[in-house]
Amino acid sequence: MRIDLHAHSTASDGTDTPAELVATAAAAGIDVLALTDHDTTAGWADAVDALPVGLRLIRGAEFSCIAPDGRDAHVSVHLLGYLFDPTSQAIIAEQARLRTERRMRLLAMAQRMAADGFPVDPDEFLAGLPPESPAGRPHLARALMSAGVVGSVDEAFRRFLHNRGPYYTGRVDTDVHAAIRMVRAAGGVAVLAHAAARRRGPVIDHSVIAELAAEGLAGVEVDHPDHADDDRAALRDLAGALGLLVTGSSDYHGTNKTVSLGQETTEPEALEQIEELAASGRVAAVTADRRRVR
Ligand code: AMP
Ligand code: FE
Ligand code: FE
Ligand code: ZN
Repeated sequence: MRIDLHAHSTASDGTDTPAELVATAAAAGIDVLALTDHDTTAGWADAVDALPVGLRLIRGAEFSCIAPDGRDAHVSVHLLGYLFDPTSQAIIAEQARLRTERRMRLLAMAQRMAADGFPVDPDEFLAGLPPESPAGRPHLARALMSAGVVGSVDEAFRRFLHNRGPYYTGRVDTDVHAAIRMVRAAGGVAVLAHAAARRRGPVIDHSVIAELAAEGLAGVEVDHPDHADDDRAALRDLAGALGLLVTGSSDYHGTNKTVSLGQETTEPEALEQIEELAASGRVAAVTADRRRVR
């Protein structure tokens, strides 16, 4: 069984459409795939409709959150929510707020770059973003590529867009405690994404993960392409001590990142635990032969 529980489509900042994503997953020999676009569930329907026989889809989303870092500041954290009810009004409203927040923040970054003489037209850039979708820095990276400023998305992040980069502009993300409550109230399961991805910036302290576990966090993503071996070992120990389930996933973004689907995987037992925890029977995993039974 190959289980990959973290992947993005064009519904957020991936480059495969939801239909292409499920086809790519099946071709890569993956048995279970979670679609976890940033701050939206808009890709779910197309992924379900295009689901190849033999592939199971876990519907999810990645919530952009802010958490205390356990020292005296705050850090950006991403929370994966699985199998929650997408008609939850709290989730719908917060995701809509974040989509606007994302666009305004990217506009501010483009404006700052334009003011410094980079060949980006902020209004044109904003108009060119996919409507209604949670745009992210990869979209700005692509605009910089098109303008010939950089040769790759990676270079754009390295030189300009990373969390401590010269044009980084903050965004008002969801309080992680509120996000965990929202996901749970909607019958879903909350797993902390890439909690030790140090190259992105400061990371959350283990003491804060312990607090989140007490509030209903169900698991941590231990195996992630951005995690060093010693961090994986430490997170695995922490999960064991706190009774959290452990996942492993690629965080695939198509050609916006160099990772491949299934590069990191989750044990079947962890998936079983996630499905058992999902209180709402309305949002079970789907397979092609019972995709109408929702
Ligand atoms: P944003 O959502 O606008 O804060 O941008 C964060 C997104 O940028 C992440 O979800 C990744 O998709 C992507 N990202 C972060 N760091 C890098 C990097 N070094 N290279 C390529 N993509 C990155
Ligand atoms: Fe992303
Ligand atoms: Fe993330
Ligand atoms: Zn992700």
